[in-house]
Amino acid sequence: MEKKQKERKGHLVLVPCPLPSHMSPMLHLAKLLHSQGFSITVIHTQLNSPNQSHYPEFSFESIGGSMLESYSAFDGDVMLFLSELNMKCETPFHDCLIKMQLCSQYNPISCIIYDSVMYFSAAVADDLQILRIVLRTSSAANYIGLSILDENDCHSTQECRLEEPVAGFPFLRMKDMPLFSTQKHTRKVLTCIYNGTKTASAIIWNSLWCLEHALFEKIEDETLVPVFPIGPLQRYSSNFSTDVLSEEQSCMAWLDKQAQSSVVYVSTGSVITMSKDELLEMAWGLANSDQPFLWVVRDCLVNGSDGVEQLPREFHESTRSRCRIASWLPQQKVLAHRSIGCFFTHNGWNSTIESIAEGVPMLCWPRVGDQRVNARFVSHVWRVGLQLEDRLLREEIDRAIRTLFVDEEGIQIQKQAKELKKKVEISLRQEGASSDFFGRLVKYIRLQETMISLSNA
Ligand code: UDP
Repeated sequence: MEKKQKERKGHLVLVPCPLPSHMSPMLHLAKLLHSQGFSITVIHTQLNSPNQSHYPEFSFESIGGSMLESYSAFDGDVMLFLSELNMKCETPFHDCLIKMQLCSQYNPISCIIYDSVMYFSAAVADDLQILRIVLRTSSAANYIGLSILDENDCHSTQECRLEEPVAGFPFLRMKDMPLFSTQKHTRKVLTCIYNGTKTASAIIWNSLWCLEHALFEKIEDETLVPVFPIGPLQRYSSNFSTDVLSEEQSCMAWLDKQAQSSVVYVSTGSVITMSKDELLEMAWGLANSDQPFLWVVRDCLVNGSDGVEQLPREFHESTRSRCRIASWLPQQKVLAHRSIGCFFTHNGWNSTIESIAEGVPMLCWPRVGDQRVNARFVSHVWRVGLQLEDRLLREEIDRAIRTLFVDEEGIQIQKQAKELKKKVEISLRQEGASSDFFGRLVKYIRLQETMISLSNA
């Protein structure tokens, strides 16, 4: 560890959230910052701890012990999980930082960069008077949604007038806000995330200026802190690693045999579950559309049990020649394949920007949290997809897929998706907006370090 730390200038402590879709953007950010000469310490819990052998250049500190059970112990209630996580991590994190400050192997800590859902980090950093910067792994639209819920004193679906338009954002309805159906922990957790974001010294965003510049300007005006939209972070690294290699290889070989832009790729991310009725509507909607499709059915997708076993024999028989089902796939690699023509998605933020970055039109079926506001932006602002309403119906799926592949509306959406892909590519070039913001972020941290060392001198 001595070598990892001492030769480098500036020591950043990164606090990722253990949920897989949050962990990966933070680790991509860690790699980027390491490439700029910073030493990196990643704080992790026992749950979903990163594979340290993939990151020999970083130091790792555990604050978890065995206190966190698996995510599934929380019955899919992400708010309850986050509430427990934040409660249980605060003291161990505080102790860990004190230990690091006393340990001669570590350079002094320049800055803590924490995932906004790990809001306990804010209190600890403030207590120890360490600079803190927050990473938002979701859209700026989601943050605006949180601020709207806060203003309207409304955090759960039970409390909101769902069909009402949102003041100042005529294309948004209250039901597009990042709402959750549970009430118990939602308000407290969302308020903590919102407060832990707006009080940070700066905000890093896994999003792009070209997608959300008007919102970034508004947020900067309101929070008076600099924002750094440097996404999509996953595009800086070509790491398509997966644990299910044989499944992956056979699906990629199958994709190679499909016609250009013909396949519907279907995935609902790493967390959400669905009912058996929804699974069947999805299955028959896909079957009736006549398009080939590649479907990720996670092992516990259908209320915790195996979805594939619940699909009827007639479905398998009628789709055998044009369907593949897998339990997990290297999504970015799939989306980049020339045969993919549409992504049927739940609009988690990672999936949304991965699809935008590959120019793939979306069929949106958002469920909770930020997925709704992301889907509304996809369909009504960026115009790169169509949104299905809450209740999943096979006729609607079939109709929407045909619209996306055949109708004039679908052709326009396909064109717009290709245009947006070009903008993302430009943003990632050396002189593009995301690269420019990353350069500014590095300068910002270096300047803060200098100011702190001058004030300590
Ligand atoms: N993903 C993947 N393989 C799959 C399904 C999903 O690699 O078969 C990845 C996907 O590329 C994305 C993440 O899992 O980076 C899902 O994140 P997102 O924010 O879209 O949704 P969440 O899982 O948080 O609901």
